[in-house]
Amino acid sequence: MTTAYITHADCLRHDMGPGHPECPDRLAAVNEAMRTSGLMSELHYLEPPMAEFADLERVHDAAYVQQIFDHAPTAGRVQLDPDTAMNAYSLDAARRAAGAGLMAVDEVLAGRSSNAFCAVRPCGHHATRVASMGFCIFNNVAVAAAYALASKHLDRVAIIDFDVHHGNGTEDMFSAPQWQERVLMTSFFQHPYYPYSGTDSRAPNMINVPLPARSDGTAVKAAIEDEWLPALERFKPQMIFISAGFDAHREDLLGGMALVEADYVWMTRTLAALAARHSQGRIVSMLEGGYNLAALGRSAAAHVKTLAEE
Ligand SMILES: [Zn+2]
Repeated sequence: MTTAYITHADCLRHDMGPGHPECPDRLAAVNEAMRTSGLMSELHYLEPPMAEFADLERVHDAAYVQQIFDHAPTAGRVQLDPDTAMNAYSLDAARRAAGAGLMAVDEVLAGRSSNAFCAVRPCGHHATRVASMGFCIFNNVAVAAAYALASKHLDRVAIIDFDVHHGNGTEDMFSAPQWQERVLMTSFFQHPYYPYSGTDSRAPNMINVPLPARSDGTAVKAAIEDEWLPALERFKPQMIFISAGFDAHREDLLGGMALVEADYVWMTRTLAALAARHSQGRIVSMLEGGYNLAALGRSAAAHVKTLAEE
């Protein structure tokens, strides 16, 4: 069995303007890192479908989804919020990014791949039920998790978020009462830092660990072992989703934490061991942030290589 690598050229065409840190070169750097590390021959390379309205509506307000479909420009650029814009390719890119998670769920549950990495953009974890935010249009990981629960009849899934920023959108969606028994979200994030949320625990299914700037692998390891793992062991998720942002890397341009590639390898191995115990090894990992192209490429390759060894 192999690791699925799910990506689409549409995700390279979404462009929010000159100088924007969430740029097409990020995804190009991730793809290139897979090639130079010799990983591509080991991976099951797949192109995702576009997520349909009904898929997005499981976690987003229908009026918001409609607004994105209606306001997508055919030329030029429209600004959705201070940080997030759409060009003529952004709607397709956002639907492919969400569609990648749906395809990953299908692949892994059908046993065609043991786990999956979705190399997609725009990223997703800041998008709330009703709004774009922080470079995110649709909440890709939330769309995928809701699909696994609603259409694939899983009872419990975990969402692990190791991006340097708090996944406020994912928390917004799954802290709702109807999801609390079925979704456990664990995260760490730099605090205080954008989006300045996650420190008051909103719901019992949210395990958030705020960490100060300059926190390194030792601090992250302690957070995971002391806070995440006991909750995850009790919850026994049937599938594990990862919001895989690599902007907690010490070379990142936006984040102020101090992780290195070896820390991403340790986290991936730890989560894979958890998945082996409770989830039949099922992991769907989706790219979130990461803004130093070299560090992003190396970290993503280390993460995917570790997934492929499982
Ligand atoms: Zn981030």
